Amino acid sequence: MKLTRRRFLELGVAATASAVVSPLPGFAQGAAPRVVVVGGGFGGASCARALRQVDGRIAVTLVEPNPTFTACPFSNVVIAGLRELSAQQFTYERVAAAGITMARQLATAVDAPGKTVTLADGTRLPYDRLVLAPGIDIRWGALPGYDEAAAAQMPHAWKAGEQTLLLRRQLEAMDDGGLVVISAPANPFRCPPGPYERASLIAHYLKTKKPKSKLIVLDAKDAFSKQRLFQAAWAELYPGLLEWVPLSKGGAVTSVDVATHTLVTDFGRHQAKVANVIPPQKAGRIAEVAGVADRSGWCPIDPVTFESKLQPGIHVIGDAAIAGAMPKSAFAANSQAKTCAAAVALLVTGGTPSTPKLINTCYSLVAPDYGISVAGVYVPTGGQLADVPGAGGVSPTEAPRGARAAEAVLAEAWFRTITGEVFG
Ligand SMILES: Cc1cc2nc3c(=O)[nH]c(=O)nc-3n(C[C@H](O)[C@H](O)[C@H](O)COP(=O)(O)OP(=O)(O)OC[C@H]3O[C@@H](n4cnc5c(N)ncnc54)[C@H](O)[C@@H]3O)c2cc1C
Repeated sequence: MKLTRRRFLELGVAATASAVVSPLPGFAQGAAPRVVVVGGGFGGASCARALRQVDGRIAVTLVEPNPTFTACPFSNVVIAGLRELSAQQFTYERVAAAGITMARQLATAVDAPGKTVTLADGTRLPYDRLVLAPGIDIRWGALPGYDEAAAAQMPHAWKAGEQTLLLRRQLEAMDDGGLVVISAPANPFRCPPGPYERASLIAHYLKTKKPKSKLIVLDAKDAFSKQRLFQAAWAELYPGLLEWVPLSKGGAVTSVDVATHTLVTDFGRHQAKVANVIPPQKAGRIAEVAGVADRSGWCPIDPVTFESKLQPGIHVIGDAAIAGAMPKSAFAANSQAKTCAAAVALLVTGGTPSTPKLINTCYSLVAPDYGISVAGVYVPTGGQLADVPGAGGVSPTEAPRGARAAEAVLAEAWFRTITGEVFG
């Protein structure tokens, strides 16, 4: 059967799962191999489960301090007041029920030669292979004036939870006629289409609730993911309300002044009623501590096994990894988790992983009933994950509103599928 783009999107997560997890030969005599996974998000929790599925004899420990995971995908819908944060929250009960030992602690140190992870309470966990999936941390100080105290006034909302609710409350408290400003960072960062989905859904909120207001997106880039689709939809849905200012027109924010709620660029100053600063990012801190992050702040990996290029025996998946053409998305983290689990399960028994093929689809909502997407297939090429030309693609530029509505439904179905698979 010909694999049409639509069919590709429908197969989505399921295709990834079956493609990479294959049965293993039995272990040799001796103790079960120990794999420690740090970070219980889309990458880590998925990897822990996939490891158990590949071979139940692997002893898997998942290190995660939070009893509840709060998902970022669809958190822009929460900000727009169209969904509650509780719909984004998942516990680890089913993860534990899959035979995974939960260590409810922060990992604070890694001894790579000694093969141990130290937890906040001082416990040391020995491992044969370590998988790090810590997501992102904010690069505090990279944007002058933007520190943790500033984030309490000008939320980033780039880690879902309190920050998401803070931005929502600020929008709700704003009078009609106010100026909202979003600042979007330079590449690379978590979720390339995320700032533009957020701009769209905030514009939807303003259009329906505070129509005299205005939204400006100050961008440190001249181009962004699904740009033609977003801009066509903005012209149709939010004319005069949403303005995007690219780098070349003075979009790059060079500093912020919290006291006056002002974002400063080389071309001028923007005093906002609500300021959403999406700052520069880096791999979650434990990556740096473990010595797997390079000077870019992200983690170079082998694209077949996701093993660090800097520290043998440690694998890095999800947003923290430098995954070539693959974007930093939950879909990608899940895809990488399964590839990495299959490779690790082979490596701990002396096997040789084969060349994987990974997929990603990123849906964005431009309005609650208006979805668009981009999909891609990636294979290791020249030491990196490269896009397979002609595979995947974006939603058509010209499409009836029914097609956009159908993609919005698919987006929601994707979220249910992936969260069900990882946490359900
Ligand atoms: C607004 C927004 C919208 C998005 N929308 C989409 C979307 O529609 N589709 C999509 O595919 N992606 C989307 N994303 C991106 C997606 O959320 C991330 O790409 C994804 O969460 C990455 O998974 P991860 O496992 O690398 O990190 P995370 O999911 O962030 O998980 C990291 C986990 O590691 C834990 N951790 C960190 N450090 C330690 C430590 N030292 N010890 C123990 N645990 C630790 C954290 O507590 C956390 O639970 C969106 C992101 C944002 C911000």
